[in-house]
Parts: sequence; C-alpha cells; structure tokens
Amino acid sequence: MHRNRLEALRLVQKRKVAPVKDRVTKVAAQFGERTFGIAQMSKYLTAADVTQLKKVAAGEKQLDKALALKVAEAIKKWAMTHDVTHFTHWFQPLTGLTAEKHDSFINYDSKGKVIEKFSVGQLIQSEPDASSFPSGGTRTTFEARGYTAWDVSSPLFIIEDHGTKILCIPSVFVSYKGHALDTKTGLMRSLKILNHEAIEMLKELGDKKTKKVFTTIGCEQEYFLVDSAFANMRPDLISAGRTLVGSDMPKGQELEDHYFGSIPSRVLAYMADVESELYRLGIPAKTRHNEVAPSQFELAPIFEEANLAADHNMLAMEVLRRAALRHNFMCILHEKPFKGVNGSGKHNNWSMSTDAGENLLEPGDSPSENVRFLAFLSCVLKAVHSCQVGLRAAIATHGNDHRLGANEAPPAIISVFLGATLSGVVESISKGEKIEPGKSGKGTISFGINQLPELPKDNTDRNRTSPFAFTGNKFEFRAVGSSQAISYPVTMINAAVAKALHQFTQELVEAKKKEKNTQIATLAVIQKYLKESKDIIFEGNGYSDEWKLEAKKRGLYNLQKTPEALSEFAKHDHHKFLIESGVYSEAELEAILEVQFERYAKHLNVEAQTMLTLARQLVLPAVYAHQRMLGQTVASLVAAGVSATDSKTVLEEAVKRSVEVNAGVEKLAAAVGELERKGFGKEGAAYAAFELSTCMNNLREALDKAEKVIGDDFWPLPKYREMLFLR
Ligand code: ADP
Ligand code: MG
Repeated sequence: MHRNRLEALRLVQKRKVAPVKDRVTKVAAQFGERTFGIAQMSKYLTAADVTQLKKVAAGEKQLDKALALKVAEAIKKWAMTHDVTHFTHWFQPLTGLTAEKHDSFINYDSKGKVIEKFSVGQLIQSEPDASSFPSGGTRTTFEARGYTAWDVSSPLFIIEDHGTKILCIPSVFVSYKGHALDTKTGLMRSLKILNHEAIEMLKELGDKKTKKVFTTIGCEQEYFLVDSAFANMRPDLISAGRTLVGSDMPKGQELEDHYFGSIPSRVLAYMADVESELYRLGIPAKTRHNEVAPSQFELAPIFEEANLAADHNMLAMEVLRRAALRHNFMCILHEKPFKGVNGSGKHNNWSMSTDAGENLLEPGDSPSENVRFLAFLSCVLKAVHSCQVGLRAAIATHGNDHRLGANEAPPAIISVFLGATLSGVVESISKGEKIEPGKSGKGTISFGINQLPELPKDNTDRNRTSPFAFTGNKFEFRAVGSSQAISYPVTMINAAVAKALHQFTQELVEAKKKEKNTQIATLAVIQKYLKESKDIIFEGNGYSDEWKLEAKKRGLYNLQKTPEALSEFAKHDHHKFLIESGVYSEAELEAILEVQFERYAKHLNVEAQTMLTLARQLVLPAVYAHQRMLGQTVASLVAAGVSATDSKTVLEEAVKRSVEVNAGVEKLAAAVGELERKGFGKEGAAYAAFELSTCMNNLREALDKAEKVIGDDFWPLPKYREMLFLR
C-alpha cells in the first residue's frame, strides 16, 4: 500500500471513540438554553415587555424605541452570563451559506473607560461590507450598500466553538431600498402571502375563527462521514466536496446492509455531540439512523414553523460540519460525493397549519373538515402543476444535477405521488363520477355528502422515486439537495400554493352564487382543480423510461440540468406568479438567476481544475511509477533469458492507462479554457453542463480505469473501500 495511505490507515485504526463533552442528558431542562427564548426573556424583562416582544415577533406590532432599549440591555445581560464577548448579525446571502461578521461589546464610556455596550442600533441593524456577496448585479443596479436587519421572529442564539461564544442575531440581508440580497427575505414574504390567501379561503369555506396560517417544515438531513485522515488526503473532497476519481467497490450498497443498521460507536458519539449542541440551540432533533449508502446517515428534527425551520437547518448543517472535526470526521453534505452509491437529499416535509394547531392537509373527522382537506389538497396539486418549472429551478444546483435526471433519487420531472387510495379518489372526483360512500370501517373517514367517497386516515403508501409525495398529512418535497438552504425551495412552494389558494377563493365566491350549499359549491371547484392538474399525479416508477415518455405526452417538463431549468424559469410565464404576488420583484429574480448561473459555472470550473490537478500531480505519477516497476520487471526477465510475455501485456495495459488519462487531461484543459472564455454566466453555465461535463466524465472514466489496475503501492489516494468502510 502507498505509504501515505498506510499512514492514514494506521491513524484510523488507532482512533478512539471521542468522549462527548457536556452531553445534554436532561433534554427538557436544557432545551434552548443558548437561545434568547421566552424563559430567558422573562428573566431579564417584565411580563408586559415580554408580551409586547412576542407581539412584535408575531408581526402584530412594530418594535418601538423604548422597548428596543430594554430588549438590547436584556440581551446583553443574558449573553454576558454566558461569557459572550462578541455579537454578529447572522444572515443567509445568495451563496446558500450563512454569513457572520463578529463585533465585540467593547466600547468607551464618556470618561474613556472600557465598558461593554450593546446598543439598539447594533441589535436592529448593521451594514456589513457587502460588496463581495453575490447580488447578481442588484446592488450595482440600485445602490451599493447592503444592510442586515434583525428578524425578530427567530430567536437569538449563542454559538460556541472551543469556549469562544458568539451571540448571533438572525437577520435578513437587504439593499437600502429593501431589495432582497438573501434567501430569508423572500421566504418571509411568501409566508405572509400564504397566510393571507389561506385565511381568505378559509373564510369563504365558512371558517371565521382562524387568524393565522403558517407553513410547517420538517427536513430530513442526509450526510456522509469520512475519517479526516482519509478525507484530508483527497484534494477533491476538500475543494469540490465530492470525489472526482474513485472506482466502484466490490462491495457497495447492493447488500443493503447499512440502511437502519446499528450505528458505529464513533458515529454514535458524534451524533450525540451534534444533538447536544442542537438541543442547546433549541433545535428539536428527533431521529437519527444509517442511510442507504455506506457511511451515509440522517438527522431529522420535529417539524417547525418554516422560517424557524429554515434557520435551524442552516444551523444544523453548521453544527454537523463543526462537530465532525471533534470526532476526526469530515461531514460531507454534497448531493453526490461518491460514484456508484446513493447521493444525499434533504426531504422537505411541508404542510400548512392554523393558529389552532390544525393541519390543513390532514383529513379530519367531520365532513366539512374533509372538504377543507380536499380543497387545500387540490390547491397544492394545482400549484405544483402550474409552477413545476419554478419548483425545478428552486432545486437546481451543480450538486443536485447528479441526483435529478441522473437515474437516482427523484427524477428531474416534477410530479406528485398521492398513494393508491387518494389518487383513486382524486381520479373519481375529477372524472365527475358519482361515488357511493363505502362502508364506514376502521381507519376510514366519511365525507357525509354522497358525492364523496371515504378516505383512509392513515396513508402508509411509499414511493421513493417521487419528487413530491403526499405522506398522509403533509407533502414531502424530496428533490431538494442535501447541501441546499431550504428557504428558496420553500418560498417557491409557498408562493405557488398561495396563488392557487387565491384563484380557488375567487372561483368559490362565484360558485357560491349558484349553489347555496357551501360544501357542494366547494366540491365543484375542487373537481375543476383536480381535472386541470391531474396530469401532475404519477404513482409509478419515476426512474423508468416509460415515465419519461408518458410525462412528455402529458406536457410535463423534463429539465435535466441546472442551466436548462434556469433558462426555462427565466421565461416570464414561469415566474410571473412570484412577481404578481409580490414575493420577488423582476429585478430580484433576475439577480437570483444570475447568481445561480454564476455559481453553477464557477463550481464546475473548480471541479474541472481540481480534476486536472489530481490527474497531473497524483494519478499520472502513480501510473508512471507502476509502469517503471513493470518495465524493470520485463527488462530483468528478458535479461535472465525467461519469457516476459505476461508482464509485457500488463505493462502495455498500464501504458494505455496513461495514454488515456493524458488524452482526457488535454481535452478537459481545453474545455476549461473555453469555459473561461465564455465566462461564468448563462453561456458558460450551459457550456459547463454539457461540453465540460462530458470531458470530465471521460477523464474520470480514464482515471477510474487507472485506479483499477495500478499497484496498491503506487496509488496515493484513499480508495472508496477505505473511506466508506473503515472507521
Ligand atoms: P419518513 O422518513 O418516514 O419520511 P421521518 O419521521 O424521518 O419520516 O421524517 C418526517 C419529517 O416530517 C419529520 O421531520 C417530521 O417532524 C416532519 N413532519 C411531520 N408532520 C409534519 C407536518 N405537518 N408538517 C411538516 N413536517 C412534518
Ligand atoms: Mg421522509
């Protein structure tokens, strides 16, 4: 074995399970101890002030100066009891990451003495040097400055890293004139609009008591863990977040022995560490398990209000990465880090809830609740059908291209899975069939009016190939990438559904003019909606070629690669729902698209450059060393006067490897040059998606073939079997 790999292997073999420092064992008592939640507020503010602040958080009231002064002081006192010295506005720029710039509490008083100070201004707003955040030209078009502003609805929290503690203020990031420069602003707007439209619809359905409707999100986060001794030897994992060379293993995931298997000790300690951190941050981590691929795992929280869930998922990804270092792992969040085994996604479970805690996608106990359920369900179907390109564009990233449309996980065609019973119901209604209600049995519910069949209460059907699946009382948007910020995809669903709710309400008003019975009038609109959107429903195998043909017949989009999805979405018809509802302005959307194109092209450029470095500096020297060894063998055999036929054949094969790698390198280097000429915009992205990617695939094939034949003593890169099976 190559000595570098051997050294890494020895290190890995000697690893001990890292003890978890300060593990949270009393979850209820310690939950949220590092957030400025109700309990903490109540300690430093009067009950009346807490009530006021809660109203501000709920968006019912503006934050006034007097209250802000008291709140800033309370926050400072609370933070200092935790030994916090610095604070930061924590925001989510269009990079899809989070950003922070730390400021100390340090200040001078009027006599020049050092004090700790935290002003209202510092709490509410800051102006980070924003010029290097991507803005898709928005700032040059409008104005240069970017501001962060406190999002009062998401609690402040304290991040700790090896004893250093930082107070984080969840914030939006906008330009002076309020143009969104981040992903949170759009999400908050979409939540407001969905709330409004849902309440209007509920009123029309006869519900006068609901005051608020909000989106609920629970996202299942998948990730890989690789020992850092191996990971640090892989320039591709370090620079690109995924392996760019690596051949299939004799044993991969085909035995399906990893999924839900017992969790390895070092990983379990890591998970406990992560969860302790999450509990302190008020993030309700609920499930943990092994995923399908070797060394792949999943973490899922209890669902929360969408804005909070989005912040919490960003934080969870950060905690996952950081804690991995303490346990000598690299946490890999990329969508497709290893060829030949499953990629990672982030299933976004999505629903709508009322302020009374009623899930609007939950079939209920009374006929009216079930009509309401079908009304909201038909709106989601309508939304996904009419805004499918938007949903596809919202999950279009360089990493996710390896999942969607690449014969794994959900396909690039957006469709909805309902499960056999519900899809049957939907089909009957949309055909206008008169259905006699079945017998009321266990686990079924009645609609009371005889146009409607009974519904199963528990929908346990599963279809892993569907990008958007109904799972009993919520939809699961499965196509979201594991490394993605969820705010943008959730914004897209919210906005699409809000539009459908708006139209539904208008049609219901009309229908009620002709039909006095609200339930029957509602059913008429439901029927129309289901008819219009039934093409989006697909219950079969999403990977199959038949589905591709069928989807085409139905007029559904199959946008395989990011630039295709973005270009289609850039057409006015596909994104006007966002502009008409006010979720984004035309300029903001243009900026988002520009950033998406740019990031795609730049990421592929990084991957291509990394691949070239790997090929030239690590693989080729290994192949040549292998050839040299064989050359010497052949020479000494010939010198000894014995047959060297077989070693010559092996040598010739080894020579073919370097010839192929060199040819691949040459072509890829030329393609990289071409990409640079085209630039990192729309044109460059399209070039990268096809021509450049083809060159990368070809070179990879040559590299992987080399790995398969080169002697183990010469191969310097940790192999898949080492990275994925040893810990
Ligand atoms: P599965 O793997 O079977 O899909 P999990 O329990 O792993 O299920 O994950 C389901 C996720 O869906 C959890 O995060 C859960 O909290 C979330 N969830 C459950 N109900 C809702 C809801 N009404 N709205 C949003 N998310 C929900
Ligand atoms: Mg799931």
